[in-house]
Amino acid sequence: TRHDDHTRGTGLARPGRVKEVTSLTNPIVKDLRALAMKKYRDQEGVFLAEGLKLIIDALDLGWTIRTLVFSKAGKGNSLVEQVAARTIAKGGDVLEVSEKVIAAITRRDNPQMVVGVLEQRIQPLAALRPRGNDVYVALDRVRDPGNLGTIIRTADAVGAKGIILIGDTTDPFSLETVRATMGSVFAVPLMRATEAEFLAWRKGFAGLVIGTHLKGAVDYRTIPYANHPVVLLMGNEQQGLPDQLAAGCDKLARIPQEGRADSLNLAIATGIMLFEIRRDALKLDGGN
Ligand code: SAM
Repeated sequence: TRHDDHTRGTGLARPGRVKEVTSLTNPIVKDLRALAMKKYRDQEGVFLAEGLKLIIDALDLGWTIRTLVFSKAGKGNSLVEQVAARTIAKGGDVLEVSEKVIAAITRRDNPQMVVGVLEQRIQPLAALRPRGNDVYVALDRVRDPGNLGTIIRTADAVGAKGIILIGDTTDPFSLETVRATMGSVFAVPLMRATEAEFLAWRKGFAGLVIGTHLKGAVDYRTIPYANHPVVLLMGNEQQGLPDQLAAGCDKLARIPQEGRADSLNLAIATGIMLFEIRRDALKLDGGN
């Protein structure tokens, strides 16, 4: 470990070396802070994940950590030392910073001890190989990062095989979305498609595409979901599903409601649908 606050940080640290940075004006810190913006995340093909648990999940699931940042509070913590060693073993860099620096990178007053810079992963729709009872969630232009993160977490919890992001969506790799996934972003494959690509792919899909719609004529509890792959298609928060996507569904399901609310929150509706689709597959003893 050595102080290196003012050197230009090309190549950061050589593997095996931990670099120490305490100044907010350090160029490495500036680059890390820029990752709060989608433009820079996409330019670098990376994103930030906060917290020791998330970083351990990411490493366990085979994700690549480019840079691991930990604060002084993490020094001497054996779990932090382990993730640092695993990062270095795979060719990543490790930075030791002040709490002030980690707070600035993650834009939080009470920052986590550890933050990782990870490589983004998005798969093409063509990589999807639906089999058996596989369930996928397709999201039409999802806007809200909290909704997307919650849906990724819920999809993970029911054993869904992937999420298809249709059209212009909120960034699955924003700090807010990744936070809301609680680590499930590392477990559930993400795919991206335009509306036209999804509709073209859908023609060759042998399973059921179940859309959800406030004008749906079918009670969601009456659909036989088992024995074929299912794509659950959810509409945009403000506008719901556009006509072309609704027309591409095998069925349009509706969750009956009472009371004043005219619709459910997108993530809640997705959760209700997913647990119904997976009703028979999910068992308390894990025997699914
Ligand atoms: N104003 C929008 C509309 O007219 O469709 C409301 C959209 S709602 C907030 C977001 C998405 O959640 C819907 O597109 C649908 O996929 C799902 N959703 C919400 N409530 C639902 C319900 N009762 N039945 C089926 N889907 C529902």
